[in-house]
Formats: sequence, structure tokens, C-alpha cells
Amino acid sequence: MLFEVLAKALDSAERTTSRTQLTAILVDLFRKTEPDVVDKVVYLLQGRLWPEWSGLPELGVGIKLLIKAASKSLGIKESEIEALYNKLGDSGKVIEQLKAGKSSAGVGGLARFVQKADTSRLTVVEVYDTLAKVAQATGEGSRDIKVNLIASLLSRATPLEARYIARLVEGRLRLGIGDATIMDAIAIAYTGSSLNRQLVEYAYNVRADLGNVAKVLATKGLEGLKAITPTPGIPLRPMLAERLSNPQEILDKVGGEALVEYKYDGERAQIHKAGDRITIFSRRLENITHQYPDVVDMAKNFIKAGEAIVEGEIVCIDPDTGAMRPFQELMHRKRKHDIHEALKEYPVAVFLFDVLYVDGRNMLNEPLKTRREVLSKIITENDKFRLSEAVVVTRADDLEKFFLKAVEEGAEGVVVKALHSQSIYQAGARGWLWIKYKRDYKSEMIDTVDLVAVGAFKGRGKRGGKVGALLVAAYDPDTDTFQTVCKVGSGFTDADLEKMDEILAPYVIDHRHPRVVSEVEPDIWLTPALVAEILGAELTLSPQHTCCRDMVKKGAGISIRFPRFIRWRPDKGPEDATTTKELTEMYYRQLKKISEEVVEKIEQ
Ligand code: ATP
Repeated sequence: MLFEVLAKALDSAERTTSRTQLTAILVDLFRKTEPDVVDKVVYLLQGRLWPEWSGLPELGVGIKLLIKAASKSLGIKESEIEALYNKLGDSGKVIEQLKAGKSSAGVGGLARFVQKADTSRLTVVEVYDTLAKVAQATGEGSRDIKVNLIASLLSRATPLEARYIARLVEGRLRLGIGDATIMDAIAIAYTGSSLNRQLVEYAYNVRADLGNVAKVLATKGLEGLKAITPTPGIPLRPMLAERLSNPQEILDKVGGEALVEYKYDGERAQIHKAGDRITIFSRRLENITHQYPDVVDMAKNFIKAGEAIVEGEIVCIDPDTGAMRPFQELMHRKRKHDIHEALKEYPVAVFLFDVLYVDGRNMLNEPLKTRREVLSKIITENDKFRLSEAVVVTRADDLEKFFLKAVEEGAEGVVVKALHSQSIYQAGARGWLWIKYKRDYKSEMIDTVDLVAVGAFKGRGKRGGKVGALLVAAYDPDTDTFQTVCKVGSGFTDADLEKMDEILAPYVIDHRHPRVVSEVEPDIWLTPALVAEILGAELTLSPQHTCCRDMVKKGAGISIRFPRFIRWRPDKGPEDATTTKELTEMYYRQLKKISEEVVEKIEQ
């Protein structure tokens, strides 16, 4: 397939503000894509070369190097390209303009230097393979190799193609086309019906490689998708928990009997063992193996199975007392440059809570009781590598007692898990089979929520011109959209504000993103990418915001009163943000609490 087809689709995707149209653009693109290159097209749409977890180097060459390559291919002085770049701030637009031979931004007389493009047309495979070489070139002479490879692509590219090659090379494509949109599009393109979307999602949950899933569907059809099972070395999307704050309600939800486990305050780890090869994936499925050589050793020595995928939480512990230390300590460890020093200063323990695969056996559809039994059989338990602390309960007061013990010992609370025959491992789903019950839910304030920055407002007065507030949104997985919740203008430290423009810059776009539903017009629109943790006094109804619009009251959405920024959550992607459904549930819980308090007062 010609790269031009992809470039045109990217251009249309960039222009649209409609989610439906975005899907249609992708369906059309996939229909034109040959089945054996569909994986590459999916990665490029995601602005990458391979799945994030692969651990392979990604693109992201510096602007200087890109300018050098552009200069070489276009025959224009680097200083002149740089001047135009300083003016436009987007390498893609700069190189596109120069290639088109019209420098409308006014760098005089550049056009006459522009070389005539080589007439042989670029294919997707050529562009992809060349970009892969650029990303993987290392060591002495690699700079020149990269410059030559990029220059060779730019020389043959049309102006539009050059726009996207430049952005890809710089690692700044960032179109914000979510996985859900891509899944919708491949289901329609390859099966003719969006009804098969569920099966695509199942496959993606079990094999978190959307390029590969698309290729399996394109080449082997639905039967191919159904045959996808957990594979050591390829992460699964993690099962997630719902939240509630009333022990009796929690027990009722899980069917009366539950396995209650400590909710450890550490980093979730999906540990894969294939013989001596250990790979560790984070909650966001990044490959974090290199950060935990000690956990790698534990997995090698204490997982008895030849092949296994287990899940647990890595927690920092006090080397003297063995007590658990808070999550922040783990972050200190990650920031240390000398990993061996970090191992000594911040030792960790691993508390395992699930098993997804053992020696050829897919464990996902086994009930929790069976999974826990198998887990205990394949682990040689010791102080630092063991099963999570857990009890089986059927009574709310026992649950509450265990919760208090968990908190006292430094856990965040508990995760309550259903034990009945249907208590399978739901990869990628947040469902009622697991319910978290955290310490914060007991306080007067609402829990913090994780919301996505979709817009920004410039400050006035002494912060005039600089961003001083964010427009944040919740995620609605059903429509794959981000619906606005509130404007957050407080809680930022001076340092946060200082860095704000720089943090937001890569995501600034000139119109509302097609996946954002908003009636508020911020000064700056953003591609939904960054997640912020927000704390508020309470949830309220608002006519301005679109989150859960009309669900509680006609014409009103759910918003947060007195929202405060707590911190950025780089460990979460936009689709990991708090969902609109969760906010509705939180709102109803709040209402229930208020009415209970009123009844209590009346009774007194
Ligand atoms: P949070 O922001 O509360 O950590 P989350 O969105 O990362 O939540 P949830 O599924 O909502 O994820 O909450 C469960 C999280 O708690 C898991 O992702 C995992 O990291 C952590 N955890 C700690 N102990 C356990 C346990 N025993 N069982 C399951 N998850 C646990």
C-alpha cells in the first residue's frame, strides 16, 4: 500500500471533530490496507512502531537532527529551516511547507532551493522499515545513519507525506486516536459488523498488541481471534476493581462470600516466566523488568512452573523491620540511577494475588478459588515472595475487622473478590467481581478521581498568558469519549505552574478533539492524553459540563465543587481515567449518605 493512502487518512483524522467520522475514516483506511501490513498501519496510527511493552526503542529523534535531515534532502540551510520551525513550532508543517515550495510564513526566497521530489512513490512498508532502522540505530556513527535514512524518506515524500514522516520521526504524531476507535474500525472493516467488536476486545485484552490482533483478524478471521490465549512474554490487560464503601453492600454485590485481600500500596506487576526468561509489566503494560532485577531473581527461583503468568503488587519494605513502606518510597527507588544501590536502599517484597496461565493451561476462565489454589502450588513462599494476605468472609463485621487490620499494617485498604463459580479473571475489565474498599472512602471528602486534561485556560494578572487552569474530563468507555467534569484552577504548586506550558505543549491542537464532548470553550484545546488526580469537596450538578449529562437530572451533568489538583498520574493513560459511570455511582452514594444523615438527625 502506498504511504500516501495512510497520510491522507491521517490528514482527514486530524481535521475531523466527529468521533463517528473518525471511525469511518479508519474503516475506509483498513479496507484499503493489505492484510499483511495491517499491523504496521495500526502501530503507525498509534504514533509508534511496536507495542509499548516490547521494550524496543521508539522514535523520538531531536529536532536538530530532523532539521539536518530536512536540510540535506531539501537543499535548504539548517538555519533557515530552524527559523521557520521557531515560528511554526511544528516540524511536520515546516517540512510540508518547504516541500510544497511555498514558504507562507515568510522566510524569504526558500522555495527556489527546494529540490524536485524523486518520483518513485513511498509504500507503508518502506516508510515503516526505514523508521524502524532509525529507531534502532545506536552507537558510533548512528547520528549520520539516522540523518541519511530520514533524508532519503523526505526526498521521496510528497508534502503531505513529509508532514507525517517528520512528526513520526520526532515521536510527536499524537493524534489521540484511541484503541477503542481502532477496535471499532477493524471490526467493521474486516467482519462487516460492529457486533464483532466484543470479540476484538476480548482478543486485545488477552493479547495487548492491537497490531497483531488486527492482523490475526485480517488474515485468519473471527476463528483466529477466538483462538487467542495468554502467551508468556505478551502482557494481558489487567482486571480492575469497582469501588464501594459499605461492607455489607460489598458482600451483597459479590454474592455473600468473598476472599478479602490486603490492597497493597505499591506497583502492580504482571510477571511472565518462560523458562529462565522473566518479563515484568506494569499496570499500563510498560516493560519494567530492568527496574526490578531483584524481582526477576525471585521469579526465577520461586516460581516452580516452567511457564507462568502471575500477578502481584511490588511493595517497598523497611529493611530493618520488614514493615511496608508507602508507594512514594518505590518512586524514589525508580528515580535512583544506580539500580544496585537502589536495591539495597529500597528493598521490595512481592505479594501475589492471581495466576493467569501455567504450563500451557489458560487460567482465565477458572474461578478464583481454583486460581488461588494453583497459585499457592506453583510458588515457593518466603518473606519476600508470597501470596497476598487474605481471608474468606461471609459477614460484614469480619470484613470491617480485616479492613482495619490491613490499614493498620500499611495497606491502602482491601480488595474484596467474589469466590463463586463465575468468578473468572476478566482481563481488561473493571467489574463487580473485584471491589476495592479504601481508607479514603471513609473520610468526609469524596475520593480523589483521575481526570483527563482536554483543555486549558490562560491565567490573568501576574500569570497572564501562561496556563493557570485545566478543563478536565471523565472517560465514557461506551462511547469512547471524554466528557467534561470541571475546570481546575487550584492546588497547583508554583513548580507545577512553571512546568505546565511545557507539559501541555505536545498535546495542543487547534480545535476540539473528536473524542471530547464539551460545551465549555477553553483557551487551548488538548488531545486527551494527560491524567491528573483531582480532589474535591463534593460532587454537584452543573448545566455547563457534559459528564453524565441528563442521567441524574435533565440538562445537567456531574461536576466537582472546589476541585484541587493533586498531581499528574503518568502511570495512567486517558482510558484509565475515572469513568462517567463511576462518577454517577459516586454521586448516588453521596446522595444516599446525605439522606441517611438527615434521617439520623430527625431521629435524634
Ligand atoms: P488505584 O488508583 O486505586 O490504585 P487502579 O485504577 O490502579 O486503582 P483498581 O483495579 O481500581 O486499579 O484497583 C486495584 C489496584 O490495586 C490494582 O491495580 C493493583 O495495583 C492494586 N492491588 C493491591 N493489592 C491488590 C490485591 N490484593 N488484589 C488486586 N489488586 C491489588
